[in-house]
Amino acid sequence: MTKKITDFSKLAVHTMTTKPWDLRQCVENFSAAGICGITIWRNVLEGQNLREARVMLNDYDMQVVSIARGGFFPSVQKEKRQTAVDDNLWAIEQSAAMGAPVLVLVSGADPAQSLEKSREQIQESILQILPQAQKAGVKLAIEPLHPMYAGDRSAINTLEQANNMVEEINSEFVGVAVDVYHLWWDPNLQREIIRCGRNGKLFAFHVCDWNVPSKDFLNDRGLMGDGCINIPQIRGWVEETGFSGYNEVEIFSDKYWAMDQNMYLEKIKNAYLKFT
Ligand code: ZN
Repeated sequence: MTKKITDFSKLAVHTMTTKPWDLRQCVENFSAAGICGITIWRNVLEGQNLREARVMLNDYDMQVVSIARGGFFPSVQKEKRQTAVDDNLWAIEQSAAMGAPVLVLVSGADPAQSLEKSREQIQESILQILPQAQKAGVKLAIEPLHPMYAGDRSAINTLEQANNMVEEINSEFVGVAVDVYHLWWDPNLQREIIRCGRNGKLFAFHVCDWNVPSKDFLNDRGLMGDGCINIPQIRGWVEETGFSGYNEVEIFSDKYWAMDQNMYLEKIKNAYLKFT
């Protein structure tokens, strides 16, 4: 039996979840709502003085869980692969500057080549940025994406594929991010969560829900309890491996972005206690 959640000590919210807010608004409002974990999307860091942003996060006792996102490595064009590597090196710097222990990687895919080729390039690129990540003390979490994104967003679509790559790379700085939205349907999910969790390679856990019907595969994610994912069961598998990190609420939703974001935050807290 999964232990029921009774407080907000392990609740983190992604800045993308409350997309209408800038970084300061996220920090101030999360803090006022009693939420102490934040995953920062790089769009809200644009134009920010990173040092000042770090001070603000400290002032509010906000724990930076991770930075989202690096990745998008594969391309048939060599120059584009290099541009991606450079961008990821910058993302590692940003992560270190914000005190984030983890950088989440959305691997990418190029429809002009096979998924196998894209995965090869993903692995090569991760090996290229790994020394910098190690030096900065920033771990890299490969996040498998639902197969509906295999065309151009991620050639890594199951936790098994991510685990295979993590084991081949074999570094304490490379692990996985488990997102229920992308992985809930997988009959091997429990086995693969145990596989990475027991080896200390499960770096992040993202929650939201799968709406039925889904109106948009990008921006119609559900709030926990809205859809068909058995989130407590998956959280139970994650926690059984010894994972003690945050439950990160990551929801892209035109519907929820349109509402008052403070009221939405209250809905998130309720859904977190009831359906996560
Ligand atoms: Zn995610």
